[in-house]
Amino acid sequence: MRTLSPEFTGYGWAPSTAEIARLAGIDPIEVVRFDANVAPAPLPSSRPGTIAGPLARINTYAHGGYPELLDAIARYVGVGPENVMLGAGADDLILLCARAFAGPGDTVAIAGDPTYPLFRIGAWLAGAEVGDHDQVLTFCCRPNNPTGALDPLPEARPLAVDEAYYEYCGETAVDLIEDGVIVIRTFSKAFGLAGARVGYAVADAETTRELNARQAPCQVSSLSAALALAALESPPDVSPVVEERERLASALRALDLEPLPSQANFLFVPVDDARALAEALLRQGLAVRPFQDGIRISILDSADDDLLVEALARTLDRPSPVAAAGGRRVRRLRATAETRIAVRLALDGASRVRVATGAGLYDHFLEQLAFHGGFDLILEGTGDLETGEHHTAEDAALAFGEALNAALGDRRGIARYGDAVVPMDDALARAAVDLGGRPAAELRLERDPGLAAHVLSSLAHAARIAIHVEATGRDEHHVAEAAFKAVGRALGAAVRVETAGIPSTKGSL
Ligand code: PMP
Repeated sequence: MRTLSPEFTGYGWAPSTAEIARLAGIDPIEVVRFDANVAPAPLPSSRPGTIAGPLARINTYAHGGYPELLDAIARYVGVGPENVMLGAGADDLILLCARAFAGPGDTVAIAGDPTYPLFRIGAWLAGAEVGDHDQVLTFCCRPNNPTGALDPLPEARPLAVDEAYYEYCGETAVDLIEDGVIVIRTFSKAFGLAGARVGYAVADAETTRELNARQAPCQVSSLSAALALAALESPPDVSPVVEERERLASALRALDLEPLPSQANFLFVPVDDARALAEALLRQGLAVRPFQDGIRISILDSADDDLLVEALARTLDRPSPVAAAGGRRVRRLRATAETRIAVRLALDGASRVRVATGAGLYDHFLEQLAFHGGFDLILEGTGDLETGEHHTAEDAALAFGEALNAALGDRRGIARYGDAVVPMDDALARAAVDLGGRPAAELRLERDPGLAAHVLSSLAHAARIAIHVEATGRDEHHVAEAAFKAVGRALGAAVRVETAGIPSTKGSL
């Protein structure tokens, strides 16, 4: 094998989620990763239905590439399709640019330090050296990973600009593609497709042609191309992540930390002993990326980010600036061919609830149930709503029920029984629950807007609880809503911790 620069070191992966779980002594699903700068969740378009067509033709090649995807990217970027080429992620295109421009005896320049390590890896793999004289190619990263800064664009040409985090700042060098600039972008970050491995380069038509000729034939899988195309039909709104970045930055400042100003979906926080801090967080199941003189934290959402703030406060022995997360807390992910539902549930919560699956009415009912139970519940997902709400509402209830079952653990010491009567205008609902472990659903709803009884029964079975409801009234929405509220209140009473044992004369449930 050809020898590489003596300075060469390959890309270093962070520990796997399974390893972190082992280290922290928790289930892998409970590990929260702040170290990969990826989106907190996939886009709604990333679901099995999107890849059903290409899956049915998976035995064939995508002859001639993906002209439809090139057109869609070109429209998104504001260039012609002849200016766009694909790669298996931005990394693939970084390596391609390095080997297309540089070889043994050449020098590649890299703007900024620290910056993304793949630029020097690409240069070394091409047999070239890294330096800042007589360079044949310059790389720069905007916004820069790991600092989040938008440093000035270098004057050097040819220049490859890594815009992996473009969507978070809106600043681009695409206007300079006729002036020796190649822009590299990815679907891994804002588009939530890191696992699909799709990126693209934007350059003048001749450069694109030359790069394509040096690329492996059909580098992107047909499944990934379909996911990218579907994602482009409704590009993501990154404003919640940008807002959350600023909220997290101020929480970190309240901990006496000084995060650098960032234009991306992560924050760089200078600290003295970054490795020790990252290691201490890892032992709590939270992964951040350590660097020489700081840690890099990817932005997720306020519930997860607050887990990190709390852990930082604990580790640094400073008062926490955020409300404590609820106890008896679990995460669950339920994925079927029809739906994908992610649940975060804390039984000892403060009624902080958000349910968003697109099954509007049933999202609302589950929110009511969790709110009146006093739980913290974030239930998010996507389903095949084009077939109606049935699959999505049912799987949301099943996922919630599975989370409830997990959060109840061995069910020792809980009140076990709970009941409630809830009026709502013309409607009146009575509910009683038994968390003993035997699933049952005895539901008498005088009216049902469609799936209310089915959702409650799915919840009862997945959570291994008995739910009895009698609800009457003239308005179907009121009848169902009163029923969900009553079940919520009854559950809130039944999950209370009362004794050290099991509330059963049998001594076992
Ligand atoms: N460029 C930068 C600056 C990055 O931070 C990353 C993510 N590690 C990549 C490229 C890689 O992106 P992709 O998943 O598209 O290969």
